[in-house]
Amino acid sequence: MKKVIGIDLGGTSIYGGLIDQEGNILKRSMRPTGSSGGREQVLHNIKEVIDELLEEGVVGIGLGSPGFIHTERGQVLEVGGNISGWAGTNIRGELSKEFRDIPIFIENDANVAAICESWLGAGKNLDSFIMITLGTGVGGAIFTRESGIWHGKNYQGAELGHIILYPHGRECGCGQKGCAEQYLAGRAIEKNYLELSGQRLKGEMIFSNYQLDEKAKEAIDRFIGDLGIYLISIKNIFDPEAIIIGGGVINSREVWWDRVIDYYNKNCNSPKGTEILPAQFLNNAGMIGAAKIALDNI
Ligand SMILES: [Zn+2]
Repeated sequence: MKKVIGIDLGGTSIYGGLIDQEGNILKRSMRPTGSSGGREQVLHNIKEVIDELLEEGVVGIGLGSPGFIHTERGQVLEVGGNISGWAGTNIRGELSKEFRDIPIFIENDANVAAICESWLGAGKNLDSFIMITLGTGVGGAIFTRESGIWHGKNYQGAELGHIILYPHGRECGCGQKGCAEQYLAGRAIEKNYLELSGQRLKGEMIFSNYQLDEKAKEAIDRFIGDLGIYLISIKNIFDPEAIIIGGGVINSREVWWDRVIDYYNKNCNSPKGTEILPAQFLNNAGMIGAAKIALDNI
């Protein structure tokens, strides 16, 4: 059976897996991203993860990265997501210097999560779905069984985290103001809480204090309304078979999931026909999807 390496490059950590043709993870490796050390440090850490997983018979490497990704070149374009100094990096070029004989494929991180879900997860039996990932940032992917991932003319398609949710709102790392990412990512809930209470608290703490702390409830209710509005827009633009929600914020879903679905059902002009589903692969989606890209392209 063929084996490949799948890498999930995130703003905080790099997760790698040695993965077979059926999507089984045979071995794992992890490093902090080290983005404060700049591009060279991040590349060094990725290489260490690959080194740890590399063995006889590995036929390809796939990597999911934040940012606008030119998949043909394997390069990050002018927006590098939540890794500072990442824009412009030719990831494939840099990795190929070290791993010369192995084909390397680079894709946007939300797109690899969608590929994982379409292969083995919540999207397995769907002909079309939109994936949104609520994590450090907010990623988006547009998938149809017929055409696969929609990349857009300039490899900047499906950047659903940068749809404007609040005109002239919070400043976004992308240069715009009021992007959905600023209201729906894990950090956004922390921002809501800070605005309401004047105190800093970790996202998980805010979620676990929903019943106990009035300000936590308010911060989360704001998030629930914002996510509901956002889902209605997505449904109206694409009319997909489903919207699959993934990313770290999903781990706290017992607090908000039913309330968001309720908001969506009550406020969408035609909520039926598009199911809202939780992703089935959370922490492993990036590496499995990245592995699938390598498997499909070698
Ligand atoms: Zn933005």
